Amino acid sequence: MKKSNIIDGKKVAKSVIKGVKEDIKILESKGVIPGLAVIIVGDDPGSKIYVARKREMARKVGIKSFVFEMPSQTDTKEIIDKIKVLNLDNSIHGILVQLPLPKHIDTVSIINTIDPSKDVDGFTVENVGKLVTKQDGLAPCTPQGCLHLIKTIEPNLKGLHAVVVGRSNIVGKPVADMLLHEDCTVTTIHSKTKNPEKIAKTADIIIAAAGSPGLLDKNWVKEGTIVIDVGISRVSKDNKFVLSGDVNFQEVQKIAKAITPVPGGVGPMTISYLLKNTVKAAYNSITN
Ligand code: NAD
Repeated sequence: MKKSNIIDGKKVAKSVIKGVKEDIKILESKGVIPGLAVIIVGDDPGSKIYVARKREMARKVGIKSFVFEMPSQTDTKEIIDKIKVLNLDNSIHGILVQLPLPKHIDTVSIINTIDPSKDVDGFTVENVGKLVTKQDGLAPCTPQGCLHLIKTIEPNLKGLHAVVVGRSNIVGKPVADMLLHEDCTVTTIHSKTKNPEKIAKTADIIIAAAGSPGLLDKNWVKEGTIVIDVGISRVSKDNKFVLSGDVNFQEVQKIAKAITPVPGGVGPMTISYLLKNTVKAAYNSITN
C-alpha cells in the first residue's frame, strides 16, 4: 500500500503534549502548577471557540487556566490595567490576549504591556527581537508548530528553498525567521508579489499563510514539495460552512511529498505549542 503523504497534525501534537505532561509532573514536584491567563474582548464567535479549546486542552494537561472575558466596548487602558495585575501575579506564568481585538483598541500597546517572560504567544517586541537574533525566548506557537511538522518529514533543512506565503507578524515573518535559522533559503510571497506561482513552484517547502481559501493550486507547487497549510477560512459549501485552507488540497496532495490537511494539520500544533510555552515560562520562573 502507498504510504499516505498526509501529515497528521493531531498525532504529532499528541507527542508534543506527552512531553508537556511530563514537564508538568517535574514542575509539580517542585511545587509549581503552571497558570495561563487568557483575555478575550468582545463576542467574536471564532475567538470564543479558540479560547474554549485552549482552556480545555490546558485543563487536560494540568495547566490552571483563567479566562477573563471583557465586553467589546472595553477600552485600551482597562485591558492594560488587567495585564499589569496579571504580570505581578506569581500564580500566572503565561498571559495571552486573544486576537483580533475590536478596532478601537490599540493592539500593539496591549501586547507590549505583557511581561515578556509571560508572553506565551511570543508577540512582544522583546520576544520578536530574540527570535530574529536567534536568542532563547518565547517564540510564536503556530510557526513553531509548522517547523515541527516539516521536521517530521525532513529533519535537515539546510540549503532547501522555503517559500512562505504571507508576511504577518504572527505567522509569515516568524516562520520565515525560523526557516532561516535552519539554513533554508527563504523567500516571502505577499499580496503585492509579482508572479507568485512561478516563485512558489521553485520551493522545496511551502508554508501557506495568506488566509485566502484554495489560493495555492497545482500551478504553485512542484512535484515533491512539503506543503504546510496554515490558512483557516470559513467558506460556504453545499449550503453550510466548512473550514478551508489556503491550499487546494485535492490537487496539491497528488504532487506534494507531504501535505497538512485543514482541519487536523497546523491547528492542533498551535495549541500544543501554547501549552509548551506556558510550561517553559513556568520553568523559567523558578530558574531565572
Ligand atoms: P493576515 O491576514 O495577518 O496575513 C495574511 C498575509 O497573507 C498578508 O501578509 C498578505 O500580504 C498575504 N496575502 C494575502 N493574500 C495573498 C495573496 N493572494 N497572495 C499572496 N499573499 C497574500 O493573516 P495571518 O494572521 O497571518 O493568518 C493567515 C491565515 O492563517 C489565516 O487564514 C488564519 O486564520 C490562519 N491561522 C491559522 C492558525 C492555526 O493555528 N492553524 C494560526 C494563525 C493563523
